[in-house]
Amino acid sequence: MSDYRNMWKSLGINMEAHDRLLEILPPTYLDVYLSQENRPQNMDYFDFVVNEIHGLRIQELQEHKKKGGKVIGAFCVFVPEEIIRAAGGICIGLCSGVEMGAAEAERVLPKNICPLIKSFMGFKMAKVCPYFESCDIVVGETTCDGKKKAFEILNDFVPVHVMETPQMKREKDRTLWLSEVNDFKTNMENFTGQNISTESLAKSIQEVNAKRQALLRLSELRKHDPAPISGKDCLLIEQIAMYDDVPRFTEKVNSLCEELENKVAEGKGVAPKGTPRIIVTGTPMAIPNWKVPHIIESSGAVIVAEEMCTGLRYFENTVSEASNIDEMLENIAARYLGVNCAVFTPNPGRLERLVQLAKDYRADGIIHCSLSFCDPYAIEANRVELAMKEAGIPLLKIETDYSQEDTGQLKTRVEAFLEMIK
Ligand code: SF4
Ligand code: SF4
Repeated sequence: MSDYRNMWKSLGINMEAHDRLLEILPPTYLDVYLSQENRPQNMDYFDFVVNEIHGLRIQELQEHKKKGGKVIGAFCVFVPEEIIRAAGGICIGLCSGVEMGAAEAERVLPKNICPLIKSFMGFKMAKVCPYFESCDIVVGETTCDGKKKAFEILNDFVPVHVMETPQMKREKDRTLWLSEVNDFKTNMENFTGQNISTESLAKSIQEVNAKRQALLRLSELRKHDPAPISGKDCLLIEQIAMYDDVPRFTEKVNSLCEELENKVAEGKGVAPKGTPRIIVTGTPMAIPNWKVPHIIESSGAVIVAEEMCTGLRYFENTVSEASNIDEMLENIAARYLGVNCAVFTPNPGRLERLVQLAKDYRADGIIHCSLSFCDPYAIEANRVELAMKEAGIPLLKIETDYSQEDTGQLKTRVEAFLEMIK
């Protein structure tokens, strides 16, 4: 990696803490990723992105800012990237998948809160994330109570715009969400100083759709047995999707798909035909939270789909194209409200989708993984359990956090589950 220290210093990064953060990543990456067998060659690009995680992309963001552009951070797949891009901004998904700055975060947050919230607050307060430090504004949402209240505190450290996301999917909720999307458009135009035109919004919709279609093409390939790519590699790609340059990322995913299509035609896979096939569902897994997928795949299974926001929920629906701005905004609002997040009540769409996915991906079982203190997913696990029982799909429920302390115990449970479904 080139020397980016001056750039980090200019962003006000706490260099000592940042060094510690970078030390965690390479050994983890080596163990979790580079040790895999039969990896596709085109994973090279994604390895490069991780290797340059706080380098090249941050430099690109700084260049964009030097030209007067804005960088906008987001924590949820409900934030419409199309609108940010149409106003000339760059949308960055802020990750929060590692425990860092917990002591700082606990100065303003309760001890028992989900690790994702604690992590983003810790990252900001300890000044360890160059993505966070590059953001001119952060977009929050009222999805869960923890995030909703934490955004009020985060606003003390960085400007936060909160979108009110509905909890239900009735007509009046759709009306509320559409008005939030319209307000967001105006807010982004004011913030970036750039008006959104019919052309810029149409182009942005096409580019983000192309990214989603590339990811969908990749996920379709995973329906084959043997699966041509590991679930860990796919999760990594889905995590990178949230912050990489959109057209470049799309092109790289499509190149990878070409390679995988050849593998499928030759009957080659990442694991032998007949390897137990698992779908992972639950709380999104932000980079570098690879613990559970690593346990599953190193116990002799292959993950074939993620029913998560770092997964299918992020890319399975595209925005319908339209010829005028109002219609485009309506289509954007409709697409986003199609997300089956556990914050909705009731949320039958997620259960129906899971049953369908298990059929489509010929899954042998589902592993439901929620983060500790993540009420929406931990509680919805009960509905998932009942629905899977009714559909005759084996399910394992796991609750965990970002520490490595429970690795041994989780591995034992996953191995026993795999033994049962073989
Ligand atoms: S799980 Fe829900 S709140 Fe979390 S990122 Fe996904 S849509 Fe947003
Ligand atoms: S939805 Fe769950 S994981 Fe996400 S911020 Fe809320 S409590 Fe945390």
